[in-house]
Amino acid sequence: MITIIGAGPIGLACGIALKKREIPFRIIDKGCLVNSIFHYPTNMTFFSTSDRLEIGGVPFISHGVKPTRREALEYYRRVAESYELPLHLYEEVKDIRGEDGDYIVTTSKDEYHSEKVIISSGFYDIPRLMNVPGEELPKVKHYYDEPHPYAMKKVLVVGAANSAVDVALETYRCGSEVTMVIREPHIKESVKYWVKPDIENRIREGSIRAYFRSEIVEIRESEVVIQTPEGIKTIENDFVMAMTGYEPDFKLLKRVGITFHGEDQTPWYDERTHESNVPGVYLAGVICGGRDTSKWFIENTREHADAISDAIASARKERV
Ligand SMILES: Cc1cc2nc3c(=O)[nH]c(=O)nc-3n(C[C@H](O)[C@H](O)[C@H](O)COP(=O)(O)OP(=O)(O)OC[C@H]3O[C@@H](n4cnc5c(N)ncnc54)[C@H](O)[C@@H]3O)c2cc1C
Repeated sequence: MITIIGAGPIGLACGIALKKREIPFRIIDKGCLVNSIFHYPTNMTFFSTSDRLEIGGVPFISHGVKPTRREALEYYRRVAESYELPLHLYEEVKDIRGEDGDYIVTTSKDEYHSEKVIISSGFYDIPRLMNVPGEELPKVKHYYDEPHPYAMKKVLVVGAANSAVDVALETYRCGSEVTMVIREPHIKESVKYWVKPDIENRIREGSIRAYFRSEIVEIRESEVVIQTPEGIKTIENDFVMAMTGYEPDFKLLKRVGITFHGEDQTPWYDERTHESNVPGVYLAGVICGGRDTSKWFIENTREHADAISDAIASARKERV
């Protein structure tokens, strides 16, 4: 039996690939099915076309060229149903002990013996903090769902990538007074090509105020202090939307014995088989990038599922 940790798109893809090879498995997730996508902003549109988000050869038909979060949730539900994937939802993996051939995966509900373990736990659960005074105030949000709560309020958006830009535009259009604080000298090139001109034009015309080459220094109950190239500025503020990114749960990986390299703390794994430095423990999906969360997506990690399943199938054959 193989245990897959994470019922995100890539964990599901790994399950389907094992099923096709008739290798028994279970998929465990601490939240709902595709828990990360469920927690994305309510009105989000993917930057990928739907065909690039497909798994298990199931066609993904969306109304527009780029699917919405709601369409993706429905699609992955249908995939899980049609392949009858054995899912353990709302069950958090707390520990992995043992050795290749006999791992014990401890969850919030039970213990499971596993020949091998595939970790596809993504990166969306742990926000990357700014580490500034006041970040712990309830008005500071690292996750965003929809604009209505921020209407008619002063909103400061931190960041210059897709999430920050989407939040700035949506809250502005819902009647918030929006200011952006951006470390870089411009909006990131990676911002969706159909959205980038919109944000740049709103900044140019002054509808959204942006401080480039700037950083937050302190957050207070009703104001924020910003370091800008022109010096310190203190502005009135009701909410801070810190769209500063997320990072994988390094604690779980370290407990298993996985080692890391480079500034981005990339976990070590064999590029052909995706087996980590711990024999019998494989890494799949966006977790493979460590802190670099702009390298791997659903689009280019779907193939991990076949690589890992082939490796597991041949390891089992050798053992027989
Ligand atoms: C806002 C946003 C938009 C994106 N748009 C695109 C796009 O257009 N195209 C694209 O290709 N990619 C996109 N991405 C990247 C990609 O969609 C996601 O990162 C994708 O969900 C990664 O799939 P995954 O299966 O590797 O990880 P995830 O989908 O993050 O799944 C990991 C799962 O593991 C579970 N988990 C974590 N820890 C534990 C634990 N200890 N025990 C049990 N379960 C655990 C989580 O609950 C989660 O369900 C986007 C990312 C974001 C944040």
